[in-house]
Amino acid sequence: MSSSMRRVIFLVDMNAFFISCEMANKPELKGQPAAVAGNPKNRSGIILAANYDARAFGVKTTMLIHEALKLCPGLILVPPTHNLYARKSREVMEILSRYTPVLQQNSIDEAWLDLTGCDLLFGEPLAIAGRIMDDIRNELDLWCSIGISDNKFLAKMASERKKPLGITELWKKDIKRILWPLNVREMYGVGKQTEKRLNEIGIMTIGDLACCDANILTNAFGKYGNELKKLANGIDTSPVTANPKGESKSIGRSTTLSKDIVDIELARSVLLRLAEEVGEEARRSDFKGKTVSIVIRYSDFRTITRQKSIPLSFLTRDIYRTGCELLDENWDSNKPVRLLGIGIANIDEDMPDQLSIFDVNEDLDDEIKREEKLERAMDQIRSRFGSDMLKRAKLVDGQKEE
Ligand SMILES: [Mg+2]
Repeated sequence: MSSSMRRVIFLVDMNAFFISCEMANKPELKGQPAAVAGNPKNRSGIILAANYDARAFGVKTTMLIHEALKLCPGLILVPPTHNLYARKSREVMEILSRYTPVLQQNSIDEAWLDLTGCDLLFGEPLAIAGRIMDDIRNELDLWCSIGISDNKFLAKMASERKKPLGITELWKKDIKRILWPLNVREMYGVGKQTEKRLNEIGIMTIGDLACCDANILTNAFGKYGNELKKLANGIDTSPVTANPKGESKSIGRSTTLSKDIVDIELARSVLLRLAEEVGEEARRSDFKGKTVSIVIRYSDFRTITRQKSIPLSFLTRDIYRTGCELLDENWDSNKPVRLLGIGIANIDEDMPDQLSIFDVNEDLDDEIKREEKLERAMDQIRSRFGSDMLKRAKLVDGQKEE
């Protein structure tokens, strides 16, 4: 394989994944408008995933159930069954791994594949994509969209172009025409917060970002600014990193706060919520860590991580307590914080890749965060109905549709 060989990267993204899993299991839902919804018994619950029949009525993810029913009175509501989605996700990944071992799962319903050189085995990229789509359809009764390019970013952007059942190529020569006119919010890697900051410095489209002076971006976003500019120019050299098989080496959660904070009490409560999630996942996967790390990203995007060893544990209490110690040692009430994270790992060396346990590229992991937000919204709905219901729905409002 010559080093000058063009890379071939796919992003395979499942269409309306949760509800499609339900439909594969319950054929009676097919052809009917249906949606997975948090607590469907309560009319103020939230839509987590709508099928395409429901979308035709205007039903969307994060919509309140009673709003959805107003648009589509015949809407069938199904409670979420996360075990089913996890199992289907594994089955999808199993199919994908037949085509290449270089597969990186990006969220429960999508993965990058590096198929460089595979045309010798399987044919041209378009033909391979067609086969993958057929396999997933025939074996699992699920639909996907596939983006094809020579890097991860463009493959992801391509996969968004046509849903459902779309296969889209997007190459560097096309970006001026196809990507640059799009609003920056459409760009993978740009979330609501980043969009706002970009708009503040006059950047509205991906083309504006691509052509913006690098210094201006560095001033506004630090290193991240340069990354954004490169991506807008279709440049992404990051490799498809095969997910480690077997035992995971770390579990982390981070969250971008809805407002920058300086109050350490508030920070502790955020950390507690995240530590609960980390502990829950650690116990579920029977994984004990011996290092607790926190990540703090300041409003100027400067990011620090700090860590501390602990006796092997998967208890929320230990994770949270150690996280608070680290927070106390590193808190500076003069510096507003926009993102907090906490995690555990079973390595205690310098952890050069410690950042990777958090999605510190925050907006780069929009998909994952969208899922987290939905999950969180579900938890909140479960535990607290009533007056702040609408406010909470607003928290998840404005997310891009699947
Ligand atoms: Mg996806």
